[in-house]
Amino acid sequence: MTKLRAASATDVGRRRQTNQDTVLVDERLFAVADGMGGYAGGEVASLTAIETLRDAFRRNPTMHGLEEAVREANHAVIERATSDPDLRQMGTTLDAVALVESDDGEGEVLAVAHVGDSRIYLLRDGELTRLTDDHTVSEEMRRAGQLTEAEAEVDRRRHILTRVLGPRPDEAPDMQTVVPYTGDRVLVCSDGLYNEVPDDRIARVLRTVSDPAEAAAQLVELANTAGGGDNISVVLVDVVDDDERAATASRRLMTAEERNAQLRDLARSGGGSGGDERDDEPDFWKTAAPTHDRAKRSARAAAATTEDDAELAGLPARRVTARVVAFVLGLVLLVVAALGAIGWYARGAYYVGLDDGQVTIFKGRPGGLLWFEPTVEERTDLTQAAVPTARADAVERGHEVSSLEEARRYITNLRRDSELSTP
Ligand code: MN
Repeated sequence: MTKLRAASATDVGRRRQTNQDTVLVDERLFAVADGMGGYAGGEVASLTAIETLRDAFRRNPTMHGLEEAVREANHAVIERATSDPDLRQMGTTLDAVALVESDDGEGEVLAVAHVGDSRIYLLRDGELTRLTDDHTVSEEMRRAGQLTEAEAEVDRRRHILTRVLGPRPDEAPDMQTVVPYTGDRVLVCSDGLYNEVPDDRIARVLRTVSDPAEAAAQLVELANTAGGGDNISVVLVDVVDDDERAATASRRLMTAEERNAQLRDLARSGGGSGGDERDDEPDFWKTAAPTHDRAKRSARAAAATTEDDAELAGLPARRVTARVVAFVLGLVLLVVAALGAIGWYARGAYYVGLDDGQVTIFKGRPGGLLWFEPTVEERTDLTQAAVPTARADAVERGHEVSSLEEARRYITNLRRDSELSTP
């Protein structure tokens, strides 16, 4: 079971008389509605939408059920508006996140529904991504290439909504799914937050304040400090436990990569038709090959290998990259430790050998080891010619000893033997 922890905060702001936003934190359903239309209309619209959404979703807590619940909420708002002349012009945005069983039986996913100009963001691995498109005139124009991003941000039409619940009986939400991973943080907020607080500021709070209730409260506070021109609503949903999904995905990635390596080996050895060896490789590998990012390549190859691994396509490359970085870091530490041991071995001993015809004590190993060259520790006045014949070979090769004391003792012996043998 995926475990979530959620909190919300909503505030009238500094300029408005009433709070026409409504927030919902239910067991598996989280939502923000931003109502509009006359003195009472906005409040009624957002509340009607949220209550209808909640009840309808409880009856059918699925991906499809969420979409239907939004349609039902739309009908409820319309019904309410037509029954009361004072509420005729009312409407509301509606953004919802629900934990549902995925359609393909791959476990639980977050279903996301969106109508209007509230937003849903995902903070994953410290990076904030906006999941929704604002249904406003200026944003539609920007998406159509008629306005630049900078122009759209200040365009007056950014407050004119193109889609809300209320005016049209056939209104349906934008739907998408998010595969939840432990550490993910989903933010649902009304425009009263993002019009006052820039995204990087929002991201900083989400990254640094771990308690969702505290983070939500801080975001509302920031919006108020920046002016509080509108009602401010924030719902935060943290993925506390992804039911081993990340671990399973990485295990699968490994097997997929191993499988690919085997296929590549087979292709190289088995084909034997000569020419470009890539011709023997499986098709998916060719399509995966052009990117130089190894992690991305393996993720993509894995996704293409079997349907079983299809969910990996949704796995962001940086998650894999973090794993690769940890692996490489571990490898580097291992190599450093090994080199240290070799260095200690290479430099931790002495030998008695010859330097320019003189018997000499060296620190290190005879001939050196890797790039650890032996160094002269002590010279003696004993010449190569004076070394007794029985020891000449050993000294020429380098006689290894474990300490400087032992080297000196060995030389003392050489000297004595030399004097004995000298007539
Ligand atoms: Mn608003």
